[in-house]
Amino acid sequence: MIIIMNQSATKEQIDNVEKKLSQLGFKTHPIFGEIKTVIGAIGDKRLLNTQTILSMPGVENLVPIMKPYKLASRELKQVSTIVEVGDVKIGGDELVVMAGPCAIENEKMLMDTAVKVREAGAKILRGGAFKPRTSPYAFQGLETEGLKLLAAARDATGLKIVTEVMDTRDVELVASYADIIQIGARNMQNFRLLQEVGTSGKAVLLKRGIAATIEEWLMAAEYIMAAGNPNIVLCERGIRTYETATRNTIDMSAIPVVKEVSHLPIIVDPSHAAGNWKYVGALSKGAIATGADGLIIEVHPDPSVALSDGPQSLRPSKFAQLMSDLKLIASAVGRTL
Ligand code: PEP
Ligand code: MN
Repeated sequence: MIIIMNQSATKEQIDNVEKKLSQLGFKTHPIFGEIKTVIGAIGDKRLLNTQTILSMPGVENLVPIMKPYKLASRELKQVSTIVEVGDVKIGGDELVVMAGPCAIENEKMLMDTAVKVREAGAKILRGGAFKPRTSPYAFQGLETEGLKLLAAARDATGLKIVTEVMDTRDVELVASYADIIQIGARNMQNFRLLQEVGTSGKAVLLKRGIAATIEEWLMAAEYIMAAGNPNIVLCERGIRTYETATRNTIDMSAIPVVKEVSHLPIIVDPSHAAGNWKYVGALSKGAIATGADGLIIEVHPDPSVALSDGPQSLRPSKFAQLMSDLKLIASAVGRTL
């Protein structure tokens, strides 16, 4: 339910409406717009006598939120959300590129990559310390040691850092290092994990599950928001289809759809979508042209020896070239990079 306050509503009137709603068992989420304040009220609407609220001073109207995701919906919040990570803003006119290796392997490769992606214009360094691998015998990540290396790379370069958490037991640890916590595709519907990162105080990069509909993905975002964390960046990383020529099938249509139904920013991961470095450039350009707010790209100093996802990783020189090509696409769609 959305309670629309009239233009001249006072702070006291807004507080009173919130108080009334919480007495009725609703969770309230006020959104202070430039002209009007609206209050999102989440709860059992059968307990709400609409006349009671409508007759309160300062209330203009009351409208239901039709979508199953409430806090993530554009019905509740019309203005697009900009997720701020220090001085980096995701969702504004400036595109944000995150880049780095799939997995943190050692100090040298991470530092070399960090310096090069920063030179090319990336704002955020990616790197997995906890890796979700299909095989239990594959490299699983350096865990805490990896997080320390990532933090050292941040100190050395000024880049912000994004890294994945796979288990509720590690959320506190990962949050103590990361600027953005990544929820991987395989965990998009790990509801306890979503709730846990909802209380972490850190921005969350929420990847789309390999078989998730856009609605299921936004419901996952809703879990994080309902737990108190509004700072979510969605990430389209390809879904599984019958096509085998690429690792996954990028769903470009998710970008305009998400933009229409949600206020959350959305970025694209062309690396996991393609599974092959040769297609990463084309998918990146397509994503920006389609309206994505940024990209997350795997870059490795020598993909031939990468411990994970080498075939889809760009060399730093190729990444730099792509960043320069993307400037043209960005300006064609009224964005900067
Ligand atoms: C990753 O970013 O390295 C990763 C494992 O991504 P996804 O969860 O999208 O497969
Ligand atoms: Mn990877």
